[in-house]
Amino acid sequence: MDDGEKQYILCADLGGTQIRVALCSADDGIVRRAVVPTMADEGPRSVISRLATQMRHVIGDTTLAEIAAAGIAAPGPLDPWKGIVREAPNLPGWRNVPLADEIGRMLGVPVFLGNDANLAALGEHAFGAGKGVDDMIYITVSTGIGGGIISGGRLLLGSRGLAAEVGHQTLEAHGVRCKCGNIGCVEAYASGTAIARRAREIVGAGRETSLARLDTITGRDVAEAARNGDAVAMEVMQEAGFYLGVGIVNLLHLFNPSRVILGGSVTKSWDLFADTMWETIRSRAQAPYLEGLDIVRASLGDDAGLMGAMALVLDRKVHGGME
Ligand SMILES: [Zn+2]
Repeated sequence: MDDGEKQYILCADLGGTQIRVALCSADDGIVRRAVVPTMADEGPRSVISRLATQMRHVIGDTTLAEIAAAGIAAPGPLDPWKGIVREAPNLPGWRNVPLADEIGRMLGVPVFLGNDANLAALGEHAFGAGKGVDDMIYITVSTGIGGGIISGGRLLLGSRGLAAEVGHQTLEAHGVRCKCGNIGCVEAYASGTAIARRAREIVGAGRETSLARLDTITGRDVAEAARNGDAVAMEVMQEAGFYLGVGIVNLLHLFNPSRVILGGSVTKSWDLFADTMWETIRSRAQAPYLEGLDIVRASLGDDAGLMGAMALVLDRKVHGGME
């Protein structure tokens, strides 16, 4: 940043079930942080005021003159240029909320907004497992599947800022209905939710498995059973790895990245699905796309969104990007 005294950036991530806020500096990363429950059921007014309170809290003694801008990672779809959250499936009541303007007015600093998964990609690109890699794809696999694409060193936004919904590419044209309304999305086959659904299906069909003893089955239960030697649970995890692999093959052919970065809670079970994922990729992708390709785990964990929000501010302030 050319303005030497504005050394701090306010960062926030509304992507999960918690509001994560941090005061960051480009040199030192996260300086101060706060994490509070989102309590999304209380609606946009309440969430926005809680967000502003936490941002003021991490500002602390730092003066506004020292803060260059704020970056916020929010669930999409959203308009990254106007700073408007169009709707957010996990934030009830959010429709066309001008989040950047509202927080900007409340705090008196410029505010930039980005899709949480897109910004996690930007965070990994700027500070994490994608550092120095100009063509990379970040995929977060947890309850749902999201992601971000860095192509030629730039975050791919698309015409309306809606690009890179990697979880909603169709894999099975006549398959399972996805919660997005489409049919056969990778999210409907490889997310934590999909893993749990598949396990319930198999239990319902009467197959012999330790999962049959559980009242409810979560993705985590399936991973744990697989690790304890349950063959059916292992089969479900590998099936998820297969579908993830097919999805990645599509992305390789479309974007020719040199690195694919996988984050999200399901990747904690890397040992259970990665072999199947790789086998699928090797057997289906055209050979030239595999040259120099690596697939690695994300390195920023829960901070990816916050670090991405910082990268977004640096990008906008320094390069005038996304204008
Ligand atoms: Zn979908």
